[in-house]
Amino acid sequence: MTEQQQQQQQENKIQGILFDIQCRCVLPQMRNRTTPEFFKFPAFIIVDDVGAVNPTYAQCPFCGATYNVVDINKAVLVDAKLAKIENIKDVQQTLRSEIVDIFSSYDLSLAQWQKIRFIIQNKLWEKENQISTMDNVIIIRTEELEDKINGKRIRIMSEKSAQPENINYEIGSFIKGRE
Ligand SMILES: [Zn+2]
Repeated sequence: MTEQQQQQQQENKIQGILFDIQCRCVLPQMRNRTTPEFFKFPAFIIVDDVGAVNPTYAQCPFCGATYNVVDINKAVLVDAKLAKIENIKDVQQTLRSEIVDIFSSYDLSLAQWQKIRFIIQNKLWEKENQISTMDNVIIIRTEELEDKINGKRIRIMSEKSAQPENINYEIGSFIKGRE
């Protein structure tokens, strides 16, 4: 494969993208603020190798509002009765018990579990040339300390194995992962 072909391959890869949906609800502790922020929750969407988005549904864990996620950063409010909404157990049932055990000790969102399933279904660990180093990784936590970002992430290595890694870099040294 030439360098140009490799570049093309990267652009045409299937992608799983995590992003936040802004809901219509406001958490109680925000309500007394002069400019209360709307609650945000994570959603996961798959963009196929020709750039088409697979629409999906997501439900606000706080107020239950249901969204049809039609594009990255674009979600339309719908009637919950019409939507097919997964829960974390549904996703776990599609995974090997070794993987479920590794990730169950953390408080992950449904969207993160969907990303785990996406990584495994597409065997992303085998596609080193086609993926970025963050594509087969689940971020567990990050914290900002002065000019550093510290935290923990887990890299999925196969259908049944994953390795923890420390996140440790200086702010500004490179762009934070797409998580
Ligand atoms: Zn909500």
